Amino acid sequence: MKGFGVISKGTVAWMEKPDPICGPFDAIARPVALAPCTSDVHSAYEMEGPHLINRILGHECVGELIEVGSEVRDFKVGDRVVIPCTSPSWCYPAIQDSYHQHESGLLTGINFSNYEDGTFADRIKIRSADMNLALLPKNMKPETAVMITDMMTTGFHGAELAEIKFGDSVCVMGIGPVGLMAVAGSALMGAGKIYAVGTRPDCVALAKEYGATDIISYKEGSVYEQIMEATNGNGVDAAIVAGGDLETFYMAFGVCKPGGTVANINMFAEITSFDIPIEYSGGGWLGHKTFRGGLCPGGRRRMERLIAVVQAGRVDPGRLITHRLHGLESIPDALQLMVNKPRDLIKPVISFE
Ligand code: NAD
Ligand code: ZN
Repeated sequence: MKGFGVISKGTVAWMEKPDPICGPFDAIARPVALAPCTSDVHSAYEMEGPHLINRILGHECVGELIEVGSEVRDFKVGDRVVIPCTSPSWCYPAIQDSYHQHESGLLTGINFSNYEDGTFADRIKIRSADMNLALLPKNMKPETAVMITDMMTTGFHGAELAEIKFGDSVCVMGIGPVGLMAVAGSALMGAGKIYAVGTRPDCVALAKEYGATDIISYKEGSVYEQIMEATNGNGVDAAIVAGGDLETFYMAFGVCKPGGTVANINMFAEITSFDIPIEYSGGGWLGHKTFRGGLCPGGRRRMERLIAVVQAGRVDPGRLITHRLHGLESIPDALQLMVNKPRDLIKPVISFE
């Protein structure tokens, strides 16, 4: 097989590897649509470790099955499938009393490009096919579905972690693709005011389309002061962190009213600790503020549920796509777009047909 990945921290290249072996519960796909993620940039250029040596990157994919294991029940060769970026083995007892994202350790639910090769390849192995794959509906574009596999499930998870109730005021910090999906998820969960913090015109326009009621520019003064002014000094019920730096993260605590919830879905790749300033924390008692953060949910039922949301016309994650590339050979260019983040980029997609 051929794939594109990280040789060692900071060096990416094409690599040839033996074809993946399809176990009895596994499936092998060829890509139909792929997308690079900001997390691939973290993996290639900011993180390091033995798992990121000669590792094919990528975890967002819609594929066509070219092989299925002998014990796979619901899928056959030729099926077009939505492959969740979080695709656990589902066979660890820890799943029964914790989060499937962390089935046998912190990152173990996200196998692609962490413990096995990722989706930037001409052959993609999916473990536990019956538990992880969802059929691509005939009337859904593969490029739309690929936005469900990570961006939509992650952004929506931000809204879930924030435990939004009808009428809650919500601040979404960072409106790249993940934050935009957090705006859409918050709106669907019944938020009242949604303050979207961002500056890029295309992102701002899409944030409004997805349900943001107010736009706050972090380049025009303190976000804390702007949110406090907009909420008459009260703060918001929940803040979702989907971009920015540690200061942004700390400010999420600051803008939350006492009893509010901070939900983090951003990834801080190169930090060694969190150190929330006391003026944001809600005093030494933490002001009954709740903090939750984590990885996107995956698996078959999660994909089927999100597909149902899209098919009902409630949200169109395909609106995130701003750049379209074609074929395996365009993977390095697509990844480079995520590194450079030109101002008009929200999300690139690579199609194979
Ligand atoms: P992105 O870079 O496209 O978007 C982040 C946005 O934040 C950008 O538009 C940037 O301009 C903006 N920003 C920068 N400084 C800011 C500030 N001070 N205040 C507010 N906004 C600011 O990234 P993305 O693709 O949307 O991904 C966001 C994060 O989510 C990344 O760190 C990614 O690795 C992570 N991620 C996490 C999961 C998960 O499972 N938790 C899954 C996918 C991605
Ligand atoms: Zn990702």
